[in-house]
Amino acid sequence: MKKPAAFLDRDGTLMEDSGYIGDPHRIRILEGVPEALRALRDAGFERIVLTNQSGVARGMFGEADVVTVNRALAEGLALRGAGIEAFYYCPHLTDCDCRKPAVGMLRRAVEERGLDLSSSVMFGDGLVDMALAANAGIAGILVNELPGYAGPPPLYRARSLRDGVRFFLEHVA
Ligand SMILES: [Mg+2]
Ligand SMILES: [Zn+2]
Repeated sequence: MKKPAAFLDRDGTLMEDSGYIGDPHRIRILEGVPEALRALRDAGFERIVLTNQSGVARGMFGEADVVTVNRALAEGLALRGAGIEAFYYCPHLTDCDCRKPAVGMLRRAVEERGLDLSSSVMFGDGLVDMALAANAGIAGILVNELPGYAGPPPLYRARSLRDGVRFFLEHVA
């Protein structure tokens, strides 16, 4: 049986978005995130991070720094009893098919991991995350909404990832 995926934005969704983050010491995991990730696993979802990291294209840090931050985030989550099955990032700024809201990263994850797209879901705090969900034809749950959000209407607006996951698992999945 193919597993569905919970696609997750990284910055502003799993951890504080303090701007372009190339340093693992700046990681602050948001409240309730480990619990939300555990609930997704228990419901049979693979937890896949899809993150735009144009700081690479902008020359602010290298791809190795993105990998280091992702690994440190995974370790921080593991210490709190939670995990991520895979990380995908886009290091570009223009001319690629992977920068959200383009579906390149999501399609790669679906192919590489043999995921069931039709029952998958996207959680994120940004317009690009909800636009990606729309482009992929899956449910989009907006979390930690930023002021002035003007993206596609999400299926649900949640105060936090924990709140969004609870809604999704109770009413949609
Ligand atoms: Mg974000
Ligand atoms: Zn890209």
